[in-house]
Amino acid sequence: MIVERFAPSPTGFLHLGHGFSAITAFDAAKAQNGRFLLRMEDIDTARSKPEFEAAIYEDLRWLGLAWETPVLRQSERMEHYNAALSQLVDMGVCYPCSCTRRDIAESLSAPQEGAAQQFGPDGVIYPRTCCARSMAQKTSADAVRLDMRKAVALLDDLDKAGYTEIGENPGWQPLSPSYLIERCGDIVLARRDIGTSYHLAVVVDDAAQYITHVTRGADMAPATPIHVLLQRLLSLPTPVYRHHRLIRDDSGKRLAKRHDALALRALRDAGWTAQDVRTAVKP
Ligand code: GLU
Repeated sequence: MIVERFAPSPTGFLHLGHGFSAITAFDAAKAQNGRFLLRMEDIDTARSKPEFEAAIYEDLRWLGLAWETPVLRQSERMEHYNAALSQLVDMGVCYPCSCTRRDIAESLSAPQEGAAQQFGPDGVIYPRTCCARSMAQKTSADAVRLDMRKAVALLDDLDKAGYTEIGENPGWQPLSPSYLIERCGDIVLARRDIGTSYHLAVVVDDAAQYITHVTRGADMAPATPIHVLLQRLLSLPTPVYRHHRLIRDDSGKRLAKRHDALALRALRDAGWTAQDVRTAVKP
């Protein structure tokens, strides 16, 4: 049986692009008598707000979607993220990092570095300033990073690793060590403020919820190799992925949470129906 999920962060109102993701996942599940789950990605407790969570339920109900309850809430699952982090620490692929954004920017602009700044799925690629530190030296002011070189080296069957993409660009996507090392770099596994990260939590929870199919926007595709790598390190199954095209506004800009005009509730207030949303996002 297929299990799809929609995993919004309650840090703003859902917009047309979120609607597209949720409808696509829901329809795919229903078409195969599968399950559709909802997950609140609310690890960022400073930015997550109960009113946005309530609005998500309201907007999804308005779209005609139904999901299983109880809804999994990431803020209640720290022990699971800690356990996964410990597993990675025990594998020797983690190090503590005290660098602030400013430290990283300064180190990258230092003349001896020379190389142009590279951006990955999490922004600037970390210059590995702290990579020689050991986990025994970690303090509460440190984040924890994945040593991507060590992680990649640990996978002896990397040539067979990858994931199946369905939807608009279907096919087998092999994991590329050079993409992971050079274009993703040493990503954060545990932020110093919240003790986990999106990458770690999403991988742990997709497995915990037995998700077979991940449907999300194409903006997430660059991070998927990170997720597949983490799945392999943690011996978790890799779902099938569908990265759908992004919905853009009239000027071609990608929608963001602050895009109030195309928020589902703004469209609803303007007289749209759920069917109008489906028509608007139809390829
Ligand atoms: N919580 C993420 C977001 O709001 C979704 C990521 C995912 O679907 O994996 O964009």
